[in-house]
Amino acid sequence: MGKQHLTILGSTGSIGRNTLDVVARFPDRFRVHALAARNNVELLCEQIAAFQPALAVMYEAQAAQRLRAALPAKTRTEVLTGMEGLTEAARCPEVQHVISGMVGAVGLLPTYAAIASGKRVSIANKETLVLAGELMVRQAAETGSTLIPMDSEHNAIFQCLASPPGRELERIVLTASGGPFRDLPVSQFHGITREQALAHPNWKMGPKISIDSATMMNKGLEVIEARWLFGLTPERIEVLVHRQSIVHSMVEFVDGSVIAQLGLPDMRTPIAYCLSYPSRLPLELPRLNLAEVGRLEFETVDAEKYPCLALALHALAVGGGAPAALNGANEEVVAAYLKDAFHFTEIAVILKEAMAQLEICLAQPQAPSCLRTINTVEDAIAADQWGRNTAHSIIQKRVNTCC
Ligand code: MG
Repeated sequence: MGKQHLTILGSTGSIGRNTLDVVARFPDRFRVHALAARNNVELLCEQIAAFQPALAVMYEAQAAQRLRAALPAKTRTEVLTGMEGLTEAARCPEVQHVISGMVGAVGLLPTYAAIASGKRVSIANKETLVLAGELMVRQAAETGSTLIPMDSEHNAIFQCLASPPGRELERIVLTASGGPFRDLPVSQFHGITREQALAHPNWKMGPKISIDSATMMNKGLEVIEARWLFGLTPERIEVLVHRQSIVHSMVEFVDGSVIAQLGLPDMRTPIAYCLSYPSRLPLELPRLNLAEVGRLEFETVDAEKYPCLALALHALAVGGGAPAALNGANEEVVAAYLKDAFHFTEIAVILKEAMAQLEICLAQPQAPSCLRTINTVEDAIAADQWGRNTAHSIIQKRVNTCC
């Protein structure tokens, strides 16, 4: 069997670095054809030297200039930039498998390009499914593209389902670590600092998803993701807090039998399964020792502590462009929070206000059609943008009134 040729979108982020770690262990199985990143010139330069891809993409134009200047003269890697560069990397005819590991809505178009060209696509970029899950699943069915969930919870469910989900599947249970504030009473949330919000107790991840884990918006987006990946209505998707992050998720069948996927919290395990599916790679990583772990605990979600989860479930129930709008709003709010624009507890307050404005807008006959239905990727981008603009103006107003 020939090598599997890969495109890795988001190669300098946490997913990309872990994917390259697995790929480097199996040089006879995989060949990196294209690497794409936003603006980390130094790391992409190192990755190009190590993996010699035919193509490298720096999304930001200035960073692409710096990368071209930084590469040694003998380098054969072609450097592209912008959304065009990303989509080009996603649909290269030489590539069989695209790893969609970028953060945020920027991953939508390149992931769609990979699906539209019928490739196997491993999806860690949950925004693609949050913004336009129904469209992506339909497109994949048309082109014969195989979608493999790389998000650890969805990958766990994918592993639990030996055959595609049918009538025998009753529900799925997504586990959530609860983030850094699972033991902090709501009455003390006013004292939360940004450093605390960024320090996830179980997983090492980038800043955006670490904040989303602290608010549990991440779990809300994952419910939306699961809804499309596994074709389940929202009431058949449950969220359970499991602080040890050993059970990555589970499925329950009509006979009450529950199957769970367990392992240490290390993204290389779900990544390796995506890369080699349906076979498995002999990975030499630390192994799960349940006697050492000792306890596995589970509890229901405290709705007062994590209002963002309910916001995401509500957006899913509203349907149409609501999940995309909420996602766009959340990206803006988290970016502003990371720049220290307001306190942690304001994240949910601003998003709640944005959702209220969405409902007011939807009640008008002249509401933008992208908020009602997502028929194309352009609709998804427009709904996402509506959410960003709305969040932005709410943030502006709050800043103006308090200072
Ligand atoms: Mg996850």
